[in-house]
Amino acid sequence: MPYIIGIDIGGTKTSISLGSSQGKILAKEVFATGSLKTTLSQAKGVIRAFLSRYDKGLKRTKGIGISCAGPLDLKKGILYNPPNMPTWRNVPLKKIFAQSFNLPVALDNDANAAALAEKLFGAGKKVDNLFYYTVSTGIGGGLILNGEIYHGASFDAGEIGHTVIMPGGPKCGCGKRGCLEALASGTAIARMAREKAAKNSPILRLAGKRKDIDAGHVACAAEAGDRLAREIYARAAFYLAISVTNVIQVLNPEMIVIGGGVSKTGPLLFKPLIKSVRAFAWKRPYRSCKILPAKLKDKVGDLGAISLILKKS
Ligand SMILES: [Zn+2]
Repeated sequence: MPYIIGIDIGGTKTSISLGSSQGKILAKEVFATGSLKTTLSQAKGVIRAFLSRYDKGLKRTKGIGISCAGPLDLKKGILYNPPNMPTWRNVPLKKIFAQSFNLPVALDNDANAAALAEKLFGAGKKVDNLFYYTVSTGIGGGLILNGEIYHGASFDAGEIGHTVIMPGGPKCGCGKRGCLEALASGTAIARMAREKAAKNSPILRLAGKRKDIDAGHVACAAEAGDRLAREIYARAAFYLAISVTNVIQVLNPEMIVIGGGVSKTGPLLFKPLIKSVRAFAWKRPYRSCKILPAKLKDKVGDLGAISLILKKS
């Protein structure tokens, strides 16, 4: 059974895993993402320990997959300047790990990697064409066409969070206004609640202070039946439905998979979402597209990185 090393670099945590080509994770270690130098040396140390335990002669290890938030130059294998990681500037990640371990290295952004993992091991196992959304603090996306990640002309394909849904709408982290991310992400849900919660609102009771309200408090209040919290979720679902409808009309995909923290609320998001998509989309492409929650949950980061080595060459 071939092995694959996965490196999932996040803004706060880095996870190193050793998995099989069937998507089984055999070993995993997580540590805080620190300065570039410390993180790289920690990552290399963990990989060395994994290899000496499982595959000392490197006969069975197929390669190293790296997934991280961008911006990336996939051709050159470089991570440019991720926000919140100030010491990480123009890092030739692909070269660094290829030279250290003499193994093939593949690099991609975390949403694309997650999309591929859902296609290979998760909700999309049986289909070749799907669009994956991750709805959490921000909104990311990945497009799988004919079983492969579609990158586009400048590697920016799938950046669904920054499609404009409401011209002139709320300001987005990217600098534009009315992006999907500014309307339907966890950050947007929290902002709507901070603006609208009355003094005696259960949302405010759960959070303690208005400034501490997050999407989790809104979800809890909604599940307990609070009207405002339910309306806020339905509002986010409505904007997400506009986006999902547009994807369905453009790509006529077999499946839309929705993951990320906000999707964990289940029917609270999916019920109003599917209702609106059914109303907005043409019947035929709507009927041929399954809209499903992501399946890999907390494993998606590790399996995403591992998937990158399993992609078609
Ligand atoms: Zn934006």
